Amino acid sequence: MDYLPIFQKIHNQPCLIVGGGTVAARKADLFIKAGAKVTVIAPALKQEMKHHLSRGWITWVWGEFTEALMQEVPRPLLVISATDNQAVNLAVYAYCQQVGIPVNVADQTEYCDFILPGIVERGPMTIAVSTGGRSPVLARLMKSRLETQIPHGFAKATELVGQYRQAVKDKIADPEGRKQFWETLLNGVFLDKAVQGDGAEAEQILQNKLALDSQVEYQAQGEVYLIGAGPGDPELMTFKALRLLQQADVVVYDRLVADEIVDMARREAERIYVGKRDRWHRMPQTKITQLLLALAQQGKKVARLKGGDPYLFGRGAEEVELLAEHGIAYQVVPGITAATGCAAYADFPLTHRDYAHSVALVTGHEQAGAEEIDYARLANSGDTMVFYMGLKNVQKIQQGLMAHGVSPSLPAAIIENGTRPNQKVTVTTLGELAQTIAHLQIRPPALLVVGEVLKVRQKITELKRAAAQKKLPAELKVAI
Ligand code: SAH
Repeated sequence: MDYLPIFQKIHNQPCLIVGGGTVAARKADLFIKAGAKVTVIAPALKQEMKHHLSRGWITWVWGEFTEALMQEVPRPLLVISATDNQAVNLAVYAYCQQVGIPVNVADQTEYCDFILPGIVERGPMTIAVSTGGRSPVLARLMKSRLETQIPHGFAKATELVGQYRQAVKDKIADPEGRKQFWETLLNGVFLDKAVQGDGAEAEQILQNKLALDSQVEYQAQGEVYLIGAGPGDPELMTFKALRLLQQADVVVYDRLVADEIVDMARREAERIYVGKRDRWHRMPQTKITQLLLALAQQGKKVARLKGGDPYLFGRGAEEVELLAEHGIAYQVVPGITAATGCAAYADFPLTHRDYAHSVALVTGHEQAGAEEIDYARLANSGDTMVFYMGLKNVQKIQQGLMAHGVSPSLPAAIIENGTRPNQKVTVTTLGELAQTIAHLQIRPPALLVVGEVLKVRQKITELKRAAAQKKLPAELKVAI
């Protein structure tokens, strides 16, 4: 983050615009909207600025900017210079630097102490977008995306909520209780009604809830959300996962969870990392489970983020068992598991009419004392075989399958960092699998897939190549 986004109060404060043209007028619009006392210094005003003047929204100080002229205007809180005369812009900049007034020279980030973000407005709800001056076009694109996604009804909803802020404060003394009041209200039907313009009904819901909640002593109720965060790409989280993550007080996450996902939690939420720091240091599972319990018992909302799906090789059930035993509320949110994520992003299906009618998700990590993988059954199943945590035991997997009659020429793939920007797919055969992994020094997380379905990938790759060839101009075709 190169700029700190803040919302500055400029109501009734003097602000200065240097320049009388179209760009200057657009900047003046913003100052006027935020209630500033705007002075414009310019030798002449264009149409838009004249309009502002005629409405009494600005004070015009006639002339070219000079330091001496500054004696005639009240010391401004903020200054914007938007003239097409660079010498003037630089003089404004130098003056402001010297006297310590934040300045913005329009469209020249290097001469800006502050920048004006793109704005999406829904009444009092204001969303600011900035790329830190890197790409105004991209910022505009993001702004228009937000414009289409955030219903205009949020303006009314925000007003309504604002009207009751004090009343709720008066009736529910405990700050945690108030937070819970608003969270439950805003996550429920109230917001839908308010946004859809059904203000009267929304208000009734709010009043009813307030009457009820203010009568009971607030007691923090802890809860654990066991959230499947998917295999890597943050967009593969579900809406529910995101919603619960954003209402958590604490986030407990491990190594497989991408930083971007953890960053989606509320800023004030506590973050606890329980993954491996290196090969030897990792919080034991029993300790993690105890931690979740302890946090929930303190009345906290705990988001337990797990890579992929929490109930697939995620030891989610062990965590839930202890919570259930202690009567702690919990919710399990399924996630996209590595197998489906990797298949989708690496262009092959897990089942296919011609190649496989079933899939086996197998852990390659054999626990001491647990039963061995039943290679005989796997070998005869016709399943697409997906091995999680299979790198270490790949030799065993390869030999186990081949010993029970699986052909060494059966296609096999290794997908490293599936669905992430650094995803790497290597296709080989079962017979070459262990050797390939050793040779390429493949590191976790990686998924091993064995089965005929990988032929589909081959076919898709060829089709894509042919299509790309067709699009190329004739003289370049030979190069590919
Ligand atoms: N609960 C997780 C699996 C946890 S076990 C899920 O449903 O996906 C950890 C193993 O999952 C890793 O060793 C690796 O085999 C696999 N895995 C998880 N994320 C992966 C990714 N992005 N790419 C490849 N394999 C992944």
